[in-house]
Amino acid sequence: MGRWPEFSFAVQSFELRSTSGAGRFPTQSNSHSGRSANPGHAGVEPAAPTCFDGFVTPPIDLLGTTAPALLRAAVTAFENTKGAHVAHRLHRDAVTRGEFAPPSHGLGPRAADTWRQIARLELPRVVDTAFEDTPTGKLRKRLLRLGDGRTVESVHLPMGRGRSSLCLSTQVGCARACTFCETGREGLLRNLTPGEIVAQVTLACRDQRPDTLVFMGMGEPLDNPTGLFGALEVLTDPHGLAYARDRLTICTVGHVPGLQRLRELGWKRLGLALSLNAADDGLRRELMPQTRWSLGEIQRALVAYRQRKNLALGVHWCLLPGINDTQRDAEAIARFCAPLGRVLVHVIPYNPGSEPLTRAPNVTETERFVGWLRDAGLAVRRRVTKGRSVMAACGQLAGGAAAAAGKAGDRAPERPSS
Ligand code: SF4
Repeated sequence: MGRWPEFSFAVQSFELRSTSGAGRFPTQSNSHSGRSANPGHAGVEPAAPTCFDGFVTPPIDLLGTTAPALLRAAVTAFENTKGAHVAHRLHRDAVTRGEFAPPSHGLGPRAADTWRQIARLELPRVVDTAFEDTPTGKLRKRLLRLGDGRTVESVHLPMGRGRSSLCLSTQVGCARACTFCETGREGLLRNLTPGEIVAQVTLACRDQRPDTLVFMGMGEPLDNPTGLFGALEVLTDPHGLAYARDRLTICTVGHVPGLQRLRELGWKRLGLALSLNAADDGLRRELMPQTRWSLGEIQRALVAYRQRKNLALGVHWCLLPGINDTQRDAEAIARFCAPLGRVLVHVIPYNPGSEPLTRAPNVTETERFVGWLRDAGLAVRRRVTKGRSVMAACGQLAGGAAAAAGKAGDRAPERPSS
């Protein structure tokens, strides 16, 4: 394992900078570098400074900051003059609607100008939206262009009865190189900032506020602790988007030190899922070559992670015909899960990408495997495949490569996002 970056909840720890000029504006006390957990992957830093980059000058990234932190910054900047009192309203406008318009809150020109020096709104542009009609509603895959020109995707999934879930990306590309995943082919280009992660939710809210958020898009979330933990703070901030912790699920390849960090967070209701896919170390190394922890280590980390008995740990199994679809595989999953407490196994039929590892399993094969798991005493959910026609299904996100290649599916033209 490479050097694990230090993390602290910097969004809550602004302090004064005592230099001249911009000295009245608060800066972050944390000197965290934001480096990737994967040394050797050059160029993973976000291009633009954020409030997580250490001693940066304002303006503060509104989407990467909690409302209380913004208020503290404003109180410092305005000193005893009027203007700071709108901090919570401005923050709420930014995270829920992607708007930043200080004059709309009755501020005069000077106060509005001060606000523009304190804070900035950097919303990615939605450069492409692909749609697929599913039995539960319209699925939307959004391609977002970030400030440095790189692109990521998020998928807004209809869940039926008017509910929806948003699959979020945490990195541009991914270092884990899972062989069944399009993102893994790209390698890691850089981590997303907390604001860039939150922005995916903000943009989705313009169509429909997602009921649940799953960190299962591009990237291994626990390889980007600065982005992930910062975004979690903002997403659950009761003054802003106000998501309950049990509405969020982190999906990991089994990042052992990351699981320890999550445990230290102490959020007992936070959802967690393991992307397992192979229940013996040899096959897992073949399928997920950059996942360096053994199944034994991951199992121990998950046992230690459990903070409440009724947590239903998700165990994801991408079903690959001819590779991991036998009864022996099902029994191996049951053995792996035995010490983990309450578990729900999600069987995800493989979605072939640009260089398929194998074919997609048919319904009979999937049902047979689900039956073996149930026979072994496991609770199982068979995932309904959504988004395959627009390369939006599990393992198919590629940050725009599909759009560039002109894949099939309904599309909306490019439109400015703010
Ligand atoms: S499956 Fe997840 S961890 Fe593996 S390469 Fe794809 S995005 Fe990365």
